[in-house]
Amino acid sequence: MAHLNYETRMPLGQAVVDQFLGLRPPSNKIQATYIWIDGTGENLRSKTRTMDRVPISITEYPLWNYDGSSTGQAQGRDSDRYLRPVATCPDPFLGGISRLVLCDTLDHNMRPTETNHRQECAEIMHQIRQHRPWFGMEQEYLIVDRDGHPLGWPKHGYPAPQGKYYCSVGADRAFGREVVETHYRACLHAGINIFGTNAEVTPGQWEFQIGTCEGIDMGDQLWLARYILHRVAEQFGVCVSFDPKPNVTMGDWNGAGCHTNFSTAEMRAPGGLTAIEAAMTGLAKTHLESMKVYDPHGGQDNLKRLTGRHETSSADKFSWGIANRGCSIRIPRQVAMEGKGYLEDRRPSSNCDPYKVTGMIAKSILL
Ligand code: ADP
Ligand code: MN
Ligand code: MN
Ligand code: MN
Ligand code: MN
Repeated sequence: MAHLNYETRMPLGQAVVDQFLGLRPPSNKIQATYIWIDGTGENLRSKTRTMDRVPISITEYPLWNYDGSSTGQAQGRDSDRYLRPVATCPDPFLGGISRLVLCDTLDHNMRPTETNHRQECAEIMHQIRQHRPWFGMEQEYLIVDRDGHPLGWPKHGYPAPQGKYYCSVGADRAFGREVVETHYRACLHAGINIFGTNAEVTPGQWEFQIGTCEGIDMGDQLWLARYILHRVAEQFGVCVSFDPKPNVTMGDWNGAGCHTNFSTAEMRAPGGLTAIEAAMTGLAKTHLESMKVYDPHGGQDNLKRLTGRHETSSADKFSWGIANRGCSIRIPRQVAMEGKGYLEDRRPSSNCDPYKVTGMIAKSILL
């Protein structure tokens, strides 16, 4: 796999790392890696600490602090911010009994920081819990080198046009499968509900799906899966871009989205298609408001992607249809045939905050 990176890490280096990771830590010590969303609302940070035992419930993980002035979340003179553990899973990198611990971020008054949208989402999910809201998110991304150059693209000029890359096999069209497969297994190890994965339309572009997840769990699991992906890519010496339309792909290339599938108990029951169609009224009403929160820049990122071309709808107009990939909302063909199931919101950008998106969908349809 050394061919993935240009300044290859020495294989010996990896062997030494494996030697030390293979030493079993004392049975009364665990390593807990605390993960949080930084001030950009899209990038992740993490730091690790030793604990004397594995906590049984999430509330037993201690609150921790960090330097918010180094993450775009505070000024230097009042820089302490808090990490509050909200979800945890086995750590596929350190292995054994070590844990990944997803946290939300709080200011010195214990209020959510500006880019912490989890609390608001959790409140919405709590209000609608009787509907048993299920989500599934399709995370598209591009594998790039450290200069932002897409994997498999010639250093000068462009690859052969779109058409042969989607779900492709072959060394001349599928670039970075090592990253994809390692991420898939790492997610399974971590207990993430990873639904599947596929190569996408643009060379170097891939997708994984998380779900179904109920309520607030959707956002928690997608953020953890993104973290795992960044870490896996790091080990291969490459990076993951969630930019919906990186400059280099501004020509005739599909952008990257994060289609969000949604259903309630009513939609999943026989005759549920009626409830699915009824949901369109609420979704139409909040269209402009949704477009503002479907990327971390008030809708600006997504404007580059939602052009009405490349399997997208146009950003300024709400539309829905059966099996139509040029609509804001698609009802999958199979759902229409069975008369029940779920709907797909195709608008969210690949760099969206799933807490914002799932909260907005739930609110639009049920509140
Ligand atoms: P597409 O055909 O749009 O590419 P994918 O196969 O990539 O769809 O993803 C399907 C997604 O739909 C998965 O994330 C899955 O978890 C989700 N999903 C399936 N059934 C439901 C449901 N009843 N409610 C919500 N999400 C669902
Ligand atoms: Mn320090
Ligand atoms: Mn998909
Ligand atoms: Mn896709
Ligand atoms: Mn889709």
